Amino acid sequence: MTKSKAILIGEHVTCDAHEDNREIRIVTHAHYDHILGLRESLRECRVVYATTITKDMLSVLYGKGAEKISALNYEEPVMVGDEVMMLYPASHIPGSAQVLVEDANGSRVLYTSDFRLPGAPVIETDILVIEATYGHPRCIRPPIDEVYDALTKLVSNDVEKHPIHIYGFYGKVQEVMEVLRRRGVHAPFLAEGKMYELTMVCVKHNLKVGDVVNAASREGLEVLKGNGGYVFFKHTSKIGENIKGLKIHLTGWEFNVTHRKISNNMYRVSLSSHSDFNHLIAYVEDSGPKKVIVDNSRDGFGVEFAHEIRKRLNVEAIAMP
Ligand SMILES: [Zn+2]
Repeated sequence: MTKSKAILIGEHVTCDAHEDNREIRIVTHAHYDHILGLRESLRECRVVYATTITKDMLSVLYGKGAEKISALNYEEPVMVGDEVMMLYPASHIPGSAQVLVEDANGSRVLYTSDFRLPGAPVIETDILVIEATYGHPRCIRPPIDEVYDALTKLVSNDVEKHPIHIYGFYGKVQEVMEVLRRRGVHAPFLAEGKMYELTMVCVKHNLKVGDVVNAASREGLEVLKGNGGYVFFKHTSKIGENIKGLKIHLTGWEFNVTHRKISNNMYRVSLSSHSDFNHLIAYVEDSGPKKVIVDNSRDGFGVEFAHEIRKRLNVEAIAMP
């Protein structure tokens, strides 16, 4: 693992940041801290792989160049020299992937990237490279169905009375759209700009959200002007804006409770696309590694999590870099 946040696995593969002299670049998912140096990789690597959804999401977020990415299915093996590389689902955001490299002797290295349990398959491995966003023992969330219930209740109780604005990261927002529809919320859904375009990419790949209206379209303006309630989905970066109605902030940094009232018109809902501490530990335990390397280059608790693995599981673990 390098200071430039590249995860090097096997002899040929770099994940989530560019690294000179690596012929294969993997983009595990479309979040900005995993597409580092992508232009360089597109220029210099022999091939850049991502899942089809990630590739399509990148063409919205990243623009020109994404068409040069090679789409790879989950569990489709690729030979790289005498190593085999394969992607597995990560259940983090649409298209997200874990990466496994196995050498000619059958030695396996698995990089989880960002992932969420329950959902992601746990892959058995010799060396495990794992994220640690919520790697501190205090980072515990209620079961996700309880969080979904609380969110659905907040929305259904209020959507007839006034507009609801939901803020979250790309991918998490689309998950919530689907959850609310599945749980019977029929109010119009609005999104705009990249959030709308990304939603359309996910719809193309089977996201079940019914109608989502482009807020900038004529129909969108009608919905915004009308008296009926609606749910407007926006990126987290807009959380500070002034709006009429109720704000709901989807955040992983709220622990132990499903949701919390912040002010008269704002709630935080404890929804994350990452595993909480217990699920991180469960992954390490079930994948049975001889050694764990914790990603300490991205946000989170790398050093603390490596310590907890050694203490609780008695497995060799270090945080890098
Ligand atoms: Zn991510």
